[in-house]
Amino acid sequence: MIKKVDHIGIAVRSLDEALPFYTETLQLEFLGIEEVKSQGVKVAFIKAGETKLELLEPTSQESPIAKFIERRGEGLHHVALGVDSIQDRIKVMKEKGIKMLGDEPKPGAGGAQVAFMHPKSTGGILYEFCEKKGLK
Ligand code: ZN
Repeated sequence: MIKKVDHIGIAVRSLDEALPFYTETLQLEFLGIEEVKSQGVKVAFIKAGETKLELLEPTSQESPIAKFIERRGEGLHHVALGVDSIQDRIKVMKEKGIKMLGDEPKPGAGGAQVAFMHPKSTGGILYEFCEKKGLK
């Protein structure tokens, strides 16, 4: 089942430039930075109550985030739904005719397994499923 909105992904050119808005202006809690090599990003997590904000800075030109910023500029990138069993979620979505970006979950930030639904199947929103074993 889908448990909650785990986090909201936001594409930024530079974490150093983006972070003060969240930590100083909005006074939200900074949780940490992590590099996710498989996705070509450096990720900063900000706590916003039950949900986190995931700031994504591309680490190479090949990164999907670099391409996103090139096409559409910085801003809202994806909405992540926390799930219990990501393999089952992917299977059910495919049965319902939803196009997934890849058939298998991939390692994401924070030790999570992640998978994305194609925005063409979801009304234009890039949704991520995200499963964190042993974490809330
Ligand atoms: Zn995410």
